[in-house]
Amino acid sequence: MANCKNCGAVLTGTLLVCEYCQTRQDVDLSVVHRFTVEEPRSDRFCPRCHIPLQTVDLRLGKKFLIERCQRCLGLFFDPGELEAFLELAVTNVHAVDPQRLNEVQNVKRSHEYPVTYIDCPVCRRLMNRVNIGSRSGVIADQCRDHGMWLDGGELRQVMEWMKAGGSLVQKEKELEMARLELELEKKKLQFGRIDQSFFHARPEPGQRDIELDILPMIGRLLQKIFR
Ligand SMILES: [Zn+2]
Ligand SMILES: [Zn+2]
Ligand SMILES: [Zn+2]
Repeated sequence: MANCKNCGAVLTGTLLVCEYCQTRQDVDLSVVHRFTVEEPRSDRFCPRCHIPLQTVDLRLGKKFLIERCQRCLGLFFDPGELEAFLELAVTNVHAVDPQRLNEVQNVKRSHEYPVTYIDCPVCRRLMNRVNIGSRSGVIADQCRDHGMWLDGGELRQVMEWMKAGGSLVQKEKELEMARLELELEKKKLQFGRIDQSFFHARPEPGQRDIELDILPMIGRLLQKIFR
């Protein structure tokens, strides 16, 4: 949890402005104890404010350069950089804290920006909106070729979600999905074999059951996907 540097009030969700004293603050990089501003490594522009982005070194044991906008405090990560950052910044999460996770997933969201597609800071093409970890509550903007944009406050939200065990839950769900898919494939194989034998022999009495068996499984799979 981050606190307002001015009055100490708790800053929830992706809020950058304190609800009590209205102080605006950088909550994302507060976890990085010392970062330094470098010479700009490119002519990348902020997709929100259209001003040049600053290059900062997060100094996570080694040089770790990302871009950020001084005005809106949005951050741009090259492909793979966000994952690398999170791996270094959020460690030792071995258990899920369901209560905390619930709090994190239902926090107030900053409504500073309307839901809209924004340009990639590098190629200026429209980016895709992607859900980070499906339930972290953060929808980032991603250019497949150049990286990921997070609005101010969103990085902290992702970190809080991870600390509460969100990514553990996510991994568990992915495993469960893989298991279901495997089960489904196995059933399909079984089914296919019976289908083949159908031409040579009369169907076995139990055959219909297998077909019926697959339906609830597909239902479960769809539920997983669209939840
Ligand atoms: Zn305050
Ligand atoms: Zn900006
Ligand atoms: Zn791009």
